[in-house]
Amino acid sequence: MKLGFSSLALFMKSLEEMLEIATKDGFDLLELLCEGPYWPRNLLNLENKHFSNNNNISDYDDRLNKMDLDIFESYDIELMLHSPTIDLNPASMNEGIRNETSKQTKEALDLAVKIGATAITTHPGVVHRKEERIRNLTIEFSIDTLNDCQKHAEEVGVIFSVENMPNKPNYLANSPIEHKKIVEPVGSSATIDWGHANTYKNPSEYLNVHKINYFHLNDNMGEKDSHLPLGEGSADFSPNFLKHVKKGIIELNRYEDVLRSKQFLSTINK
Ligand SMILES: [Zn+2]
Repeated sequence: MKLGFSSLALFMKSLEEMLEIATKDGFDLLELLCEGPYWPRNLLNLENKHFSNNNNISDYDDRLNKMDLDIFESYDIELMLHSPTIDLNPASMNEGIRNETSKQTKEALDLAVKIGATAITTHPGVVHRKEERIRNLTIEFSIDTLNDCQKHAEEVGVIFSVENMPNKPNYLANSPIEHKKIVEPVGSSATIDWGHANTYKNPSEYLNVHKINYFHLNDNMGEKDSHLPLGEGSADFSPNFLKHVKKGIIELNRYEDVLRSKQFLSTINK
C-alpha cells in the first residue's frame, strides 16, 4: 500500500514544511486540503503576488506570500488535492452556488495540473430537506455539476474522484447505493472514506463502488464521524480490508495521530 496523509494535520504550515515532514517520516503520498491559505484561486495567482485577501487576519496574508508552488518538483511524493468544499455545494437548489462550486472545483483541477497532482477528491453535496422528491432533485443537480467538472478533469488529464459521506440524512452519497447512483453517471472515480463508510451498517458494500481511486483512512465507533486514529474505533483494518487499499490517505486532525496510525498499519501489514 502506498501511504500518505491529509495536510489537515499540518494546517497552516508552508508547503515546503509539509513536504519535508512527509519525506522524513517515509510517506509516499500527500493530499493537500485546498481550504484557507491553500485555496486554489490564490495559489493559481501566486505569480502575480496579488491576493484578494487583504484583511490581515492573523498571519494569513503572510502565509500566502510564502507559498512556493515549484517546491513540489523537488520531492518524490505523489500528490492529491482535496478540493474546497466548505460553503460550496454541487447539489445546491441555488444555481449561483452550483456554478461557483463548479468554478472552484475546476480551479482545483487546474491547480492539480500546475503542481503535478494526480487526482482531486470532492464531496457530492448536501440537502437540507427531508422530502424524497427534493433529495432526488438535488442528486440530479449534483450529477450535473460534477459531470461538468469531470469533463474538465478529462481535458486537463487529472483523475476526478467523488467521496462517500457519513451516514447522516443531510449528506448525499451517505450510502453505497447513493454513492454509486452519483459516481456512475458522473463518470468519475470514487474516493472511499473508510471512516465515513464505518457509520453505515455494512461498510464493505462500499468496496463494490466502481473505479475506486484511493481511500481516506480514519476510525470511529460507528455512530459519529469522529476521525479517531486507526485502530481506536470499530472500523475494519484487517488484512482482508487492507488488501483493497492500493493508496491510503490518513485523514486526522493531529499529526501525532497520523504517525500513530502509520505505526498501527505497519503492525498489521506484516
Ligand atoms: Zn472529504
